Amino acid sequence: MLTLSELHEEINRCTRCDLAKYRTKAVPGEGSENAEVMFIGEAPGWHEDQQGRPFVGPAGQFLEQLLTSISFQRGQVYITNVIKSRPPGNRDPLPGEVLACRYWLERQIELIHPRMIVTLGRYAMAMFFPGKSISKIHGTTQKRDGIIYYAMYHPAAALHQQSLRRTIEEDMLKIPSLLTEAKSIIEADTQPKQLNMFEV
Ligand code: URA
Repeated sequence: MLTLSELHEEINRCTRCDLAKYRTKAVPGEGSENAEVMFIGEAPGWHEDQQGRPFVGPAGQFLEQLLTSISFQRGQVYITNVIKSRPPGNRDPLPGEVLACRYWLERQIELIHPRMIVTLGRYAMAMFFPGKSISKIHGTTQKRDGIIYYAMYHPAAALHQQSLRRTIEEDMLKIPSLLTEAKSIIEADTQPKQLNMFEV
């Protein structure tokens, strides 16, 4: 199996979809190879495309505040996106782009094998909670094959809609106890299983 930095290098060279033509830098992801929690956003924006790092713009600043609120540091979790290259003008990702990039997300999850996956916004949510609505399932979990999946609103939503800020903050505060629960589930489950990460 590749190391995380080898995987990042492959993503940096990726030409699986046309977004490769428009990007300044690919944005593979960032954080610990041993992270217990993986955060998955939507796609890089302008700042991320310039720096090749996820969540470094205004939404990233809010994400860092949220992490601080639960005494987590950025380097102890893993942060990535459904899409690794910025869609031109920050348009919504196309279904073919999501499909092409899903290959990389699968490799990242296999390699890091987090205990908890936190989806930020509807694109990441749709991969693990298909057919669900973010307004109904934010702050709730699904357990599958030793991983707890947890849906949250995207931090950028709080920047556009002030009323969501408190909801996002409250959902974030639940993560530490859910992580403790995830660890006890994994320890109780001694049977090795085939990973079946995606519902779709
Ligand atoms: N929004 C995202 O979904 N991802 C980023 O990396 C930055 C902003």
